Parts: sequence; structure tokens; C-alpha cells
Amino acid sequence: MYVCGPTVDNLPHIGHGRYNLVFDILRRYLLFGGLAVHYVSNITDVDDKIIKRAAEEGRTEPEVAGEYETRWWEAMDGLGVLRPDVSPHATAYIADMVALVADLIRRGVAYETSDGVYLDVSQVDGYGLLARQSLDSLRAGARVEENEEKRSPLDFAVWKMAKEGEPSWDAPWGAGRPGWHTECVVMSLDLLGDGFDLHGGGRDLAFPHHENERAQAVAEGRPFARHWVHNGWVEVEGTKMSKSLGNFTSLTDLLSRVDERAYRLLVLRAHYRSPIEVTPETVADAEKALERLDGMARRFGLPDLLERSERGYVVAGEGDAVGIDEDALASFRARMDDDMDTPGALAGVFELVTAAHSAADAGAENEVQRLARTAAVLAAALGLAVRGGAAEVDEAAAKLVAERDEARQAKDFARADALRDELVSLGWTVEDTPGGTAIRR
Ligand SMILES: [Zn+2]
Repeated sequence: MYVCGPTVDNLPHIGHGRYNLVFDILRRYLLFGGLAVHYVSNITDVDDKIIKRAAEEGRTEPEVAGEYETRWWEAMDGLGVLRPDVSPHATAYIADMVALVADLIRRGVAYETSDGVYLDVSQVDGYGLLARQSLDSLRAGARVEENEEKRSPLDFAVWKMAKEGEPSWDAPWGAGRPGWHTECVVMSLDLLGDGFDLHGGGRDLAFPHHENERAQAVAEGRPFARHWVHNGWVEVEGTKMSKSLGNFTSLTDLLSRVDERAYRLLVLRAHYRSPIEVTPETVADAEKALERLDGMARRFGLPDLLERSERGYVVAGEGDAVGIDEDALASFRARMDDDMDTPGALAGVFELVTAAHSAADAGAENEVQRLARTAAVLAAALGLAVRGGAAEVDEAAAKLVAERDEARQAKDFARADALRDELVSLGWTVEDTPGGTAIRR
């Protein structure tokens, strides 16, 4: 799999989180089925936006890119997204990109102008495949071109000539840097080989980014990706993001405020090609659903399979002593194999949760473990950890709990609320029960 990675010029936003979750879920499902997956996702570490930020902040481009790449991995780790097997950096592939551009010129598919080298898309068979439009209809919809040296407004830069003060690399046709579309085609073919299985990215990348990657491979006579997967948008209350509306402004912000599994669950609830809405309400709703999973794990004493797995993912049938519910597994697979129907697959997991509770209430003990365990395994197959382990309540937390119960008995609710906030800030979930304050991680 090749999944287009980030340009590291800023903090990751919520849309970055979604596409990484979508492809993490797909990757995990393939691994769960016993397939070997080689996952490549690039880092664009040279780009207009990085150059601009570096200039504004009086830093070098590598400093800016280095900082935001670190923040990127922190956020992805926080989301529970498996790291790529390889994450190539664009700047490490410049020589290969120069070689590709040289070859495209030699073949007469690319041409030089004063500001860069462009690919002549009219020479590419099937251009418009990913846009799902013909070349003629793409031409009709294209913007009026300002650069008069370009043969068609659809032609795209495979090389941009250097401007004053910008980072640049030498090339026979003039110093500069490669176009973004050239980056991904070179790195994906180098690391995965001709005719690799799957190329993914957000829906906005289908055209022109992926179209143009493909165009270069076709012009070179090389088989490119055999399957394309594009995920849908993220909508934030249908309006612009704003802190005053209580929206989540960045992925880092979201992760600091909610259980990181809630976003994965929210993503799973929608088909990957559909838009999702990320609002305080939809996130809170996802957290409630998580609580159903964790509540099941607490009641039946299930371990967190993902935490226990050294590789960070689960494989069907592995270490399954209790025995899985084969019908539930088959229906889970049928749903996932149907163009990744995660809403259906997740609904199946929750049906198992309900069934496990019913079996326990009816005293059918032998059923309970099988159903509950199957729910946990299938959730883990989607990367969703089920956490029932009651964390040890440390002395400091126990003291706060006791103080809070005293405050409540004395009807000092302001103090009780302050103690609750203190517990929450220490990472505890606080519940009022008939027996007093109950806390859990
Ligand atoms: Zn790309």
C-alpha cells in the first residue's frame, strides 16, 4: 500500500486523522486476515508552504519540516495508527526524480518552459481516469492559463525552476525542485515496484494529484497502482472551525480533550467514502459507545488485546484459547470484504456486546466468554482497543475519593466538584454511585 503522507508545515488537522485512521483500519483488516502488508507513506519535506513558514519564522526549511514531522508522529501514535513500514522523505529522492524528469523529456512527453518542466497530458493514454472525466471535458472545465508557454492548462509541473532564496537542486534544464506529483510516483514505484496493489489518499487527491502520478507512470510505460482508495471529507459542523463554537481545531487539540479511541470509532461508524461530521456531540456519542465496550470488558474481565500484542495488531485465530464465534466472524468478514463496510462490521461488534450481557443475565456462562471475547477480538481487528482492566487506584487518588465523599456528605458541593475536577485532571473518570464516588481510568 502507498498512502500519500503529509506536508510537514503545520500541526496535523482532523482530516489528516481521518485518512490515517481509514488506511490504518484497512491495513489492520488485511493483517487480521493473514496477509503480509508493506505500507509506505511519504513525508513531503520540501514545498511552498514549508518555504513560506521558514521565511516567516527565520528558520531553515529542515528545521520547520523536522519540528512538524515530530508533531505528526506524536499525533499518529496518539491515535493508535501503526507506523508505516517505510516513510520516505522527498528530499532523499531528488536524484531519482531528476532522472524521471530527464526521461520524460527524452521521450518527448515533458517540455521545458522558463518557469519549469511540464508534462503534456494529451500524450497520456486514459488521462482523466481518476477524475472520471474525458480529456475534452477536463479541458472545457480548466481555468484560463496565465503561463503562455504551457501547451494546455491541464499540463502540470514535474519540475519547478528555483526562485530567489528558495532551496534548489541542480538539473540539466535548470536548478529547482521537483513537483509534488513527481515525488509520489517515484517513491511508490521505487519502494513497492511496478503494479503495486493499492494506492490511497483523501478524496481531494484523486484529481489532480493521483491522476498526475499515474500519468507519469503511464508515460514511462510502467504499470502503476492496481487499486485506488479515496476517503471522504471531514465536516466540522458545516461551518468554519472555531474555538468559540467548541470545535476541535487540530488533531492535537482533539486528542488532548477526548479518549483517542473515540475518533477511531467515529470514523468506523461511517463508510470510508462518506463524509463524517466531527463535532463535540458526535465525539461525545462515540465516547458513549466506547463505554459500552469497556463496560463489557470490565464485567467479563477481558484483557486489552492490542496492548498485549507485541506487534500492535491482532491476527485471526492467533492465541484464541476460548474459541471465537464463527458465525459472527464470518459476518464480520463479509461486511468488511464488501468495500470495507465498517458501519456494518461495527454494528456486529455491538450486537455481540448485547448478546454477551443477555447470556450473562440468563446465566449462560459458557456462552458469555465466547461472545464477549469475539466482540473484543473483532474490535481489536479494527484497531479499537477494549479496556476493561480496572487500573490500580493509587493512594493519592484514593485520598481524593475519600475527601470528595466527605464533602458530598457535608453538602459542600463546590468542594466536591473541585475534587472531581482534580481526579479528572489526573486521568480518572468519576462516577457517583449509591456507594459513593467510583473512579476508573
Ligand atoms: Zn502523493
